[in-house]
Amino acid sequence: MARVYLGLGSNLGDKETNLRAAVYEMEKRVGKLIALSAFYITEPCGFVSDHSFLNGVCCFDTALSPTELLEETQCIERDLGRTQKSVGGIYKDRMIDIDILLYDDLIMNTSRLTIPHPLMCERRFVMEPLVEIAPDGVHPVTGKLLKDYLLT
Ligand code: AMP
Repeated sequence: MARVYLGLGSNLGDKETNLRAAVYEMEKRVGKLIALSAFYITEPCGFVSDHSFLNGVCCFDTALSPTELLEETQCIERDLGRTQKSVGGIYKDRMIDIDILLYDDLIMNTSRLTIPHPLMCERRFVMEPLVEIAPDGVHPVTGKLLKDYLLT
């Protein structure tokens, strides 16, 4: 069993309903929900949009491998109406985005999957809700406390 942290974001439709639907689906398909952060209203980051985001982080215990977890989260994204992936680092409005932030202390880097998520530490909209539910968490690569990333 692995403890995983997943970042959630939505900037289209009923955003809170989208985030809650993603968590509900993950309870069915991923494993046991351990913690869910508050949802934070944030401005789009990395692209221009009139639609603000709602972001949160959830923690699950799962029996899925990292690749199986990615397949489930991508399937849930599609089921909840996400039609477009980001291409070449260009982001788009989306009903739901699910990112794998941490998978135990695993470090992996394949063409499909990088864990820990490579951009999480520079995204306040990820680190605030993450630290809320993992106040003593440590970044597996740097060994730094997650909460220390909020100081800069
Ligand atoms: P996006 O469109 O921003 O959701 O990007 C999704 C793509 O990033 C997928 O095709 C994944 O294969 C890839 N990816 C790499 N690392 C991760 C990760 N830690 N969590 C989610 N997707 C990832």
